[in-house]
Amino acid sequence: MSITFNQLTKWIVRAAEQIMKQKNYLTELDQAIGDGDHGINLSRGFQEVVHNIQTLETDDIGQLFHTIGNTLIQKVGGASGPIYGIAFIKGGAILKGKKEITVSEFSQFLHKSVEAIKGIGKSEVGNKTVLDVWTPLADYLQEKGENIDWQEAISYCWEQAEKTKSMKAVKGRAAYLGERSIGHLDPGAVSSSFLFEALFETLGE
Ligand code: ADP
Ligand code: MG
Ligand code: MG
Repeated sequence: MSITFNQLTKWIVRAAEQIMKQKNYLTELDQAIGDGDHGINLSRGFQEVVHNIQTLETDDIGQLFHTIGNTLIQKVGGASGPIYGIAFIKGGAILKGKKEITVSEFSQFLHKSVEAIKGIGKSEVGNKTVLDVWTPLADYLQEKGENIDWQEAISYCWEQAEKTKSMKAVKGRAAYLGERSIGHLDPGAVSSSFLFEALFETLGE
C-alpha cells in the first residue's frame, strides 16, 4: 500500500478543518496549563497552510511538507509554530522527490521530525509535549508497516495523548505550573492526535 501526494494533501485539508472545529477545545486545554492560545495559534496557521498547498504546483511530497512547515513557522507563532514547522521541514526533507511513500517511509518522516523537535525544544519523551504523541507513533507505524489497521492507529494515538494527563510538564509554559500541571492533558499532544487522526481517517477511506 502506498500513500500518495493527493492523499497527503487531503490529510492536511482534513486536519485543518478538524483543528478549526476544535479551536475552542484546544484553547481551553491551554487555558488550564498555558496561556490559552493553542487553538487560536494552530487554526490561524492551518488555515494559511490549506491556502498555500492548494496553489502549489508540484506532486513532490518533500516540497508539500516543506511548504506546510514554512507556513506553520510563519503563521502559528508561540512555541508550537516552530515545533510543528520544523517537524514538517526537517522530516519532510527525507521525502524529497517522492510522489508516493510507504507506511515505513512515513514512519521515517516521523522519526526525523521527532529528532528535529527534540533539537529545537530541548525536550524529551515524557516531558508532556507533542513528543509524547509523535515519538510513540513513529515507532508504532514502523512496527506495523503495511499491516496497519487505521482504526486501531487512531485509538493508539489518542491513548498516547491521554497519557500526558499524568505527566508533569517540564518544558514550555506548562512547566511554570510544575506539579500542578499533573491531571491536565497537554494541548500540543491533543492537537497532534487530531492531526494524525485526520491522516488515518484519510488513509482508511
Ligand atoms: P505557547 O506555549 O507559546 O503559547 P502554544 O500554546 O501554541 O504555544 O503551544 C503549546 C504546546 O507546545 C504545548 O502543549 C506542547 O505540546 C508544545 N511545546 C511547548 N514547549 C515545547 C518543547 N520545548 N518541546 C516540545 N513541545 C513543546
Ligand atoms: Mg499557548
Ligand atoms: Mg502563547
